Amino acid sequence: MHIELFDTQGLGGLTLLGTTFAFVFSLLVGSFLNVVIHRLPLMMEHEWQAMAAGDEYNEEDANGSSFNLATPASRCPHCQHRIRWYENIPLISYMALLGKCSACSAPISVRYPVVELLTALISTFVISHFGYNSVGFSLVALSWALIALTFIDIDHQLLPDRITLPLIWLGLILNSFTLFTTLESALWGAVIGYLSLWSIYWLFKLMTGKEGMGYGDFKLLAALGAWCGIEQLPLIILVSSVVGILLAMVLMLLRKHQIANPLPFGPYLAIAGWIAIIWGRPITEAYLQLFRF
Ligand SMILES: [Zn+2]
Repeated sequence: MHIELFDTQGLGGLTLLGTTFAFVFSLLVGSFLNVVIHRLPLMMEHEWQAMAAGDEYNEEDANGSSFNLATPASRCPHCQHRIRWYENIPLISYMALLGKCSACSAPISVRYPVVELLTALISTFVISHFGYNSVGFSLVALSWALIALTFIDIDHQLLPDRITLPLIWLGLILNSFTLFTTLESALWGAVIGYLSLWSIYWLFKLMTGKEGMGYGDFKLLAALGAWCGIEQLPLIILVSSVVGILLAMVLMLLRKHQIANPLPFGPYLAIAGWIAIIWGRPITEAYLQLFRF
């Protein structure tokens, strides 16, 4: 597959209607991603508690009401005011409500419109760059998963298996049709992606007795390897480390972060993986050009 650094044909041949549809639809998806980011870790916590207590897990709590991605309806965390459909329109409701709950005026986290807008901008970029085809759709799905993982990791220092493992399988399946790379490159990308961080983890643990990252990070890099192929792994590790170190330095200068606290690595891997699958090939080619005489 041939990917150009900049699309030379405008919006990938998309009409204004096609672009607008991508933007509005992905705003709605962004709204759903907010639910996933908020509820998936809570659902996992309920499961773990049930397992620890030796109970069989079902989605119902003690009152018999279920808790999953669809139910119960969203409420204001401050006053339990039930959020009505017209208060739940992406971006627009937040602006109309001036960022406050309509019942108790408690501020609504700016995180919600930020995730919605980010999802819409990234999805629209991908679709206008690649078009309405298998590559465009796959990359949009990958972007959604990476956005959810990024914010869950920021909140909980956790990358749920329920997102990372299907992402590994999906990458391998798509590349069995050579969508982004060969199946062989995808398979070894997944294996080496997992093992490289796993080795660093154990080396660091044996040397310092500390845990620098979690198993979720290995699975996320395995997924990115399965999507991008083994050739892109060095770029992903390089970009994520540079971004991570720069941000840690900025935070330390601002004295907002102690070096002893581990920063979540997932967001940097997600950003680097996204850059690698969209621009990896031209970046690698430009880099190799430097060493050619
Ligand atoms: Zn309220």
